[in-house]
Amino acid sequence: MKLGIVGLPNVGKSTLFNSLTKAGAESANYPFCTIDPNVGVVTVPDERLEVLGEMYHTKKIVPAAIEFVDIAGLVKGASKGEGLGNQFLANIREVDAIVHVVRCFEDDNIVHVDGSVQPLRDIETINLELLFSDLEILERRIAKTAKSARNDKGAAKELALLEKIKAHLEENQMAKTFSGFEDEEEESWFSSYNLLTGKPVIYAANVSEEELADDGNGNEKVQAVREYAKTEHSEVFVVCAQIEQEIAELDEEEKKMFLEDLGLEASGLEKLIQASYRLLGLISYLTAGEPEVRAWTITKGMKAPQAAGKIHSDFERGFIRAEVVSYEDLMASGTYAAAKEKGLVRLEGKEYVVKDGDIMLFRFNV
Ligand code: GDP
Repeated sequence: MKLGIVGLPNVGKSTLFNSLTKAGAESANYPFCTIDPNVGVVTVPDERLEVLGEMYHTKKIVPAAIEFVDIAGLVKGASKGEGLGNQFLANIREVDAIVHVVRCFEDDNIVHVDGSVQPLRDIETINLELLFSDLEILERRIAKTAKSARNDKGAAKELALLEKIKAHLEENQMAKTFSGFEDEEEESWFSSYNLLTGKPVIYAANVSEEELADDGNGNEKVQAVREYAKTEHSEVFVVCAQIEQEIAELDEEEKKMFLEDLGLEASGLEKLIQASYRLLGLISYLTAGEPEVRAWTITKGMKAPQAAGKIHSDFERGFIRAEVVSYEDLMASGTYAAAKEKGLVRLEGKEYVVKDGDIMLFRFNV
């Protein structure tokens, strides 16, 4: 899964990104590392892995991971190709979800590109660029589809859909709030357009250190962002990028104390990762054994063979069945053998919908 960090210049994107990658760099067991400086990998905190690690006497723990891409340089006029505008927009097209950083902190030493701190105006500036870019895509698609629509019923139907989405965008509405689909075919066309304003968004309201403890409730600008986000079904999370950068330098013990001092339970980054998981409808299933204990990211509703395919495509192709025990059942039993004796380890087939925290063992034909 890939998340793109966007926002106007000087709002705290790089600060947030750097703290993410610094925190991520410590996750030693992560199986791949990246060379691209704009891409950082962070692991998804999951206490269950440590517990399983002890149960299975393994030191190798591989958490699930999310990739963050720092998409700097989005400015007014990007969709018209200003700056490296189009290139940035192309980068956004590749991500699964957007983290949109908005400045809610006041600091006279840090210049705002538009002269004052007004998060709603900032959001609108960025979202307009995304909208323009989407409109361009739709127009190109409409021109192409219109040609075949004269003697092709399918194309005519798609053309009508394209026109409806275009009208929606022209009213300044994000593609993700469009709901005029006739059937599933139209929904799948819609996904294939991969519109920027159709992607899930998390607004990261960057506040001052003092405003963190009450989750930004005392800051009117944050409230305004929350109100706005509701209208497009987006999430908001409150962060202080500067503090995150400091936290990222600390070890686990120091971090705990530091957070306690601030009256916080988890760092902003942890909250961000959890929010992204929720927003994208993701869950983790687990595999456990002596060689390693590991979390695998899947989408909610995924069936056992597709979940197995996350490990290896052979597992999906040759899927026979899965041995499954829930994390809770395993913990209550104490050992895998005891869980088996109690009948808590189930054999599930191709139609089984995998749940968060399922511990899975796949049987497959090669
Ligand atoms: P970007 O252009 O959006 O990537 O912004 P940067 O991350 O480079 O931040 C711009 C400036 O704002 C830097 O000088 C940061 O130190 C500062 N900054 C970032 N986050 C905060 C914050 O939460 N509070 C304050 N006071 N300054 C911040």
